[in-house]
Amino acid sequence: RDNAQKASLSKSRFLANMSHEIRTPVNAIVGLNELIIRETDNEDIRNYANDVQLASNSLLSIINDILDISRIESGRMEIVDMQYNVGVMIDETCKLMMSRAKAKQLELSIICENTVPKYLIGDEVRIRQVLINLMTNAIKYTKQGTVVLRIKWKEDDECDDMIRLLMSVEDTGIGIAKEYHDLLFNSYERFDDEKNKGIEGTGLGLAITMQIMKMMQGSINVESEYGKGSVFSVEFPQGIVDDSQVGNLSEYMKSVKREETKDKDMLLAPEGKILVVDDAD
Ligand code: ADP
Repeated sequence: RDNAQKASLSKSRFLANMSHEIRTPVNAIVGLNELIIRETDNEDIRNYANDVQLASNSLLSIINDILDISRIESGRMEIVDMQYNVGVMIDETCKLMMSRAKAKQLELSIICENTVPKYLIGDEVRIRQVLINLMTNAIKYTKQGTVVLRIKWKEDDECDDMIRLLMSVEDTGIGIAKEYHDLLFNSYERFDDEKNKGIEGTGLGLAITMQIMKMMQGSINVESEYGKGSVFSVEFPQGIVDDSQVGNLSEYMKSVKREETKDKDMLLAPEGKILVVDDAD
């Protein structure tokens, strides 16, 4: 048993190191390819470079998933709690998802209770990752209809300076047959190959999401009807800072969009100096 555990740990460490090493050259490819896209006037070359970009991004997301699951399995992933702005976090995450939803002509709506605290203490990076995993799946496995993200909160019975944040992602997609529900959160597990044909994935997203929830003392739940759609919900504790509330989130999201277009020229920085910091261990 000890030998098997040691072998499994070495496997996870090997995968973590390998994916870390692969990420560096892939990032170089993405960066240099970006320069080709910007600098070429030749449409054929731009099209080839766009394909390189798509393929490299999908490779990066696979590598990132393998890196995360192996870090989790070898006990090297940590939850880092810091103060963050809930509205900004949701706005930025959903904007990442909007173009994907649009490309499939899906409606993406965000329903957030006005009273959700504006500032929370938690691991924002991991919460974004959970949201991205659930929303990417909802979009990937839905051919038509809507994807709805709901954000609510409730008091934490055990602790005065904590709340429980509830986020759910509902889709009108292909759904998941009952017999697979218990297997959903296993690593590298994918189902219904016939229906999922052509949909990219590693079967790691939900395993990672489940582990992140465990590390945050939270939980994940799925309700799904085959052929009709699914609802994935997560619930986890977060620290509170003060009484301020997010308010009307959709108004806020619209205002950010307006500001972005207004400030487009602000990105020009010909005299700018860049500091690059690498904290690689
Ligand atoms: P991946 O999407 O990379 O295959 P996940 O771990 O995120 O891996 O999901 C595992 C499997 O669960 C998917 O392959 C798919 O069969 C099923 N699944 C996940 N989310 C949904 C969803 N919203 N609707 C239908 N099936 C889903």
